[in-house]
Amino acid sequence: MLKPAVFIDRDGTINVDGGYINHPDRFIIYPFAAQAVRLLNLYGYLCVIVTNQSGIGKGFYDEGVMERIHAKMLNHFAREGARIDGIYACPHDPNAKIPKYRINCDCRKPNTGMLKTATAQLPIDESKTYMIGDKYSDIRTGFNFGSATIMVNTGYGLGERQLHGESWERPPDFAAENLLHAAKLIISKNI
Ligand SMILES: [Mg+2]
Ligand SMILES: [Zn+2]
Repeated sequence: MLKPAVFIDRDGTINVDGGYINHPDRFIIYPFAAQAVRLLNLYGYLCVIVTNQSGIGKGFYDEGVMERIHAKMLNHFAREGARIDGIYACPHDPNAKIPKYRINCDCRKPNTGMLKTATAQLPIDESKTYMIGDKYSDIRTGFNFGSATIMVNTGYGLGERQLHGESWERPPDFAAENLLHAAKLIISKNI
């Protein structure tokens, strides 16, 4: 049985965007994040994190560090009774310092590779997906995949909106204060 899915950006959407987060101690989860995921779980949405982590390709941290950060995040969510159905990360960068990551991949947002892989691996109803993020590039990812898009004000969101909002040819479908507001929007509108 296929389910609707919400693709969720990580840095600036689930946690404080502290630049390149190179240690679990620097990974600070927003206090409302677990409630948002729990709400989406309750209403039958799969929650899938899609995150660009070019800091790996740049050599600022490695995949092991990212795994430890994700373990911390999943522990937090589990303690709060929230379930994440998948985490997809892109370690690549066209200018990566580490050769194996130096590619023009199809997973780096706004490309849709991570969303495609998730849809192939999880029971996702492709016609009912949502993309939530704090950068316009997250929104473009959603447009490229055919998802409904919600831009949050946390992270880079407010600044990007104030600086560039006027010039967006296609604005995000919805604006939300934060991830919890976005989750409430999804379940109330059933968009
Ligand atoms: Mg972000
Ligand atoms: Zn990639």
